[in-house]
Amino acid sequence: MRQPMIAGNWKMFKTVHEAVVFVKELRPLVADVTGVEIVVAPPFTAIHAVAEAARNTNIGVSAQSLHWEREGAFTGEVSAGMVREAGAEYVILGHSERRTLFGDTDLTVNRRLMAALAAELTPIVCVGETLEQREGGQTLAVLDQQLKQSLDGVTGAQLAAIVVAYEPVWAIGTGRNATPAQAGEAHTHLRGRLRQWFGADAAEQCRLLYGGSVKPGNIATLIAEADVDGALVGGASLDVASFAEIVRGALGR
Ligand code: PEP
Repeated sequence: MRQPMIAGNWKMFKTVHEAVVFVKELRPLVADVTGVEIVVAPPFTAIHAVAEAARNTNIGVSAQSLHWEREGAFTGEVSAGMVREAGAEYVILGHSERRTLFGDTDLTVNRRLMAALAAELTPIVCVGETLEQREGGQTLAVLDQQLKQSLDGVTGAQLAAIVVAYEPVWAIGTGRNATPAQAGEAHTHLRGRLRQWFGADAAEQCRLLYGGSVKPGNIATLIAEADVDGALVGGASLDVASFAEIVRGALGR
């Protein structure tokens, strides 16, 4: 049985102070929630303070990326060990904004993934097609390539602890979410590939999140799809009431 996960990707929003206020407000709103893994991903600067504010609660903390080397002359970069020590237990990898704006590729996502696993972080690996690729009928082929290359060298045992987020690029920050049927089709395809490459046991344990304009009003129908195990939420995770409502929308799955 896969535990649903709701993860909020705050991108480059929230100062340390704003992030801590958010967590303090979120705590009582979700204190009674069991059975949903709740994660927030603040900017690097707020990871430590958010982890302190979330200590002994049901809220986990994620980084939004990391560098694959342990340390070195990599100005502007942060390593897996560094975010782990700061209090992160998860890391988002290969988000489409990283791919389009900062040059992430399936190869670098794979390197970051290996570093994350070595540091005992739970990776949330993002894959997803552009609108052009969807309209060109390439969605499933694009997902296959991103998934295969990003997970190169991963064992079945490791896959069980990895989270994959299907985030169609055309649905991110646009207010245009994939329909439950579109999400369901992509997720069932992804799980089929994971079964083929890693075996049934590992594939059944790997959680598949949907991301792309998830809101309190659409989480229930998306998560009702058999292979949708939760959501990676951008814009709607910045408001505490809306994020808490999305968490509640995943209850009882
Ligand atoms: C995201 O950035 O991962 C995302 C899904 O954003 P939004 O929910 O705003 O579409």
